[in-house]
Amino acid sequence: FDGLSRSLEKAWDSVRKDGKLTADNIKGPLRDIRRALLEADVSLPVVRRFVSKVEEAALGERVVKGVAPDQKLVKVVYEELKSLMGGQQAELVQPKYGPSVILMAGLQGTGKTTAAGKLALFLKKKGLKVLLVATDVYRPAAIDQLVTLGSKIDVPVFELGNKVAPPEIARQGLEKAKKEEFDAVIVDTAGRLQIDERLMDELRETKRVVNPTDTLLVVDAMTGQEAAALVKAFNDAVDITGAVLTKMDGDSRGGAALSINEVSGRPIKFVGTGEKMEALEPFFPERMASRILG
Ligand code: GDP
Repeated sequence: FDGLSRSLEKAWDSVRKDGKLTADNIKGPLRDIRRALLEADVSLPVVRRFVSKVEEAALGERVVKGVAPDQKLVKVVYEELKSLMGGQQAELVQPKYGPSVILMAGLQGTGKTTAAGKLALFLKKKGLKVLLVATDVYRPAAIDQLVTLGSKIDVPVFELGNKVAPPEIARQGLEKAKKEEFDAVIVDTAGRLQIDERLMDELRETKRVVNPTDTLLVVDAMTGQEAAALVKAFNDAVDITGAVLTKMDGDSRGGAALSINEVSGRPIKFVGTGEKMEALEPFFPERMASRILG
């Protein structure tokens, strides 16, 4: 987010010398904010809505003695950034009874299998008994990869090789989890190179079979605003409960983090920040907003 915070600096500078925010002196900063967000690869309709909300809020702010106009503008932008990203942290859905069942969906290469392992470790550290279920039967070595990750973090992996259909593997995995009183089951589903009907049909079927508490779409932050469209497409097709945004440690410009909730109506629940199993964090809109503002 360095680029984004640096370009926003300019916006504050230009109102610093004036006594208050006015329709006139706010034009320049709004332009800078608009440009900064577009450069960060935030989708255009999102940028437009954002800028008009900031304008409205900034001009609506009462004159508070002692608060410099640039500080006021920073505060307005912070609040709007936070609300753009969903306002509050979105937690995993808690089941009324039985194990949490988390379906991990996503395209190949986004970091889905890695995220399944990371989430398993995250829940295990909370004291939960976790089972991983390997149903990604199409990508060569995906099952082995999950088994290796599982042994690294000491979480069992249920698998039936790659000759059994994913929904059936998921069904048997869940059965085992219930019988052996696991607290959480994480199902790594099959990914493909692009969205197609077979992928969606199979995902729908797996979802129907395991009736998950959460369906999380794994998206690569490097895809920028495209990530938001992907979340929307999956949400329209299979009704997801949130996203995991991976590769936030890379040089993504922030467009994905800022567009997803607004475009899809679904929150980012976690972010991946590296290749290690520990590199997963819950997503906090307020922390992200602070980070962007530097
Ligand atoms: P899948 O095809 O979606 O299951 O993708 P994988 O889980 O195999 O991940 C693809 C590549 O991305 C692997 O090399 C992972 O190590 C890497 N990867 C996954 N998540 C992250 C992340 O948060 N940061 C970084 N830098 N790399 C990641």
